[in-house]
Amino acid sequence: MKKPCFRLELFLALFLTTAVFAGCSPLPKTNNMSGGKPETGGKPKEVFKKSVFIPDGYYEPIPDLGAKGYLLQALAPDVYFFTTGAYNTMFITTPKGVVVIDPIHGKGPLLKKAIREVTEKSPKYMIYSHAHLDHIGDAHLFAKDVQIIAHIETRERLERYKDPHRPIPQISFGKNYSLNLGGIQIDLIYPGEGHGKGNIMIHLPEKKVLMVVDVATPRSVPFLNFVTTDIYSQIKGIEQALNLDFDVYVAGHLHRPGLKKEMLEVLKYYLASKRANKAALKKISFQDVQARSRTQDPERLFGEYYQAVAKECHRLLRKEWKPRLMGFEAFTSGHCDVWTGFHRTEVAP
Ligand SMILES: [Zn+2]
Repeated sequence: MKKPCFRLELFLALFLTTAVFAGCSPLPKTNNMSGGKPETGGKPKEVFKKSVFIPDGYYEPIPDLGAKGYLLQALAPDVYFFTTGAYNTMFITTPKGVVVIDPIHGKGPLLKKAIREVTEKSPKYMIYSHAHLDHIGDAHLFAKDVQIIAHIETRERLERYKDPHRPIPQISFGKNYSLNLGGIQIDLIYPGEGHGKGNIMIHLPEKKVLMVVDVATPRSVPFLNFVTTDIYSQIKGIEQALNLDFDVYVAGHLHRPGLKKEMLEVLKYYLASKRANKAALKKISFQDVQARSRTQDPERLFGEYYQAVAKECHRLLRKEWKPRLMGFEAFTSGHCDVWTGFHRTEVAP
């Protein structure tokens, strides 16, 4: 039996590192994503020994992607899920052409091949879920023949960035936008700021398929510090997503699509981490931390206090959530910190 690749690979891909682990199942070739530094020759450095990979929480191995380097799966008639392991997206085929969504950075040529597997039609539209380079960095490979659609905030960002890899959308909208191509309805919905500004949901009501990127990866805690600019709005956005009619969703990450109940599970984690942080702030007293501390430096003391709060919050969550979601040890303390910031500055609703 082939040894599964520890899911940490996925996280390290997300960390934008180029770490390579010897002996794992084939992964998509190391991606030089935003900020990632390409290896400059020689053997890539082995960061961890393989024997260290003994997950004691939930994890899903990345399946073998085969020689093609991607997996393709029909989510519904005419709707295709495309993944290269750590990243995913979807596209829609219609008699009038293809609707491409999020051409993943470094994976555009594979996405083109995947489209060719199922249709002779050419891309007509391209939708950006949001402006982030790792998700739309190969847009330039499709841009010549398509109309690009995105939220107005995404357009404004891309106008500022002037990145030739991410061409500026010709069509932008504020709240909602509906596209109907070849009889297939695609609703673009802006739930408000969460994972940055302009991050939209892409809903195919007749197909019962939803795409919502970077906010609720199935069976995973959210990425570093929730990668959010407005945590409360992000939660409201997930609640709004759950009110839509869909059976499966495309999260932007993971080797497979998610089920509605898996989105709900991640939402429960957001709320559980908020509650745990509140309880930790109540339990951990600054005076107690000060009495135990050896430091004379008030700045260090504050640091120790907030670390103690995050540690207690992490402890409260660990028993239930570590066996349920991937990434717990990597990201939960950071989530606790985010909630500390929130509870210190907001009257928590
Ligand atoms: Zn993003």
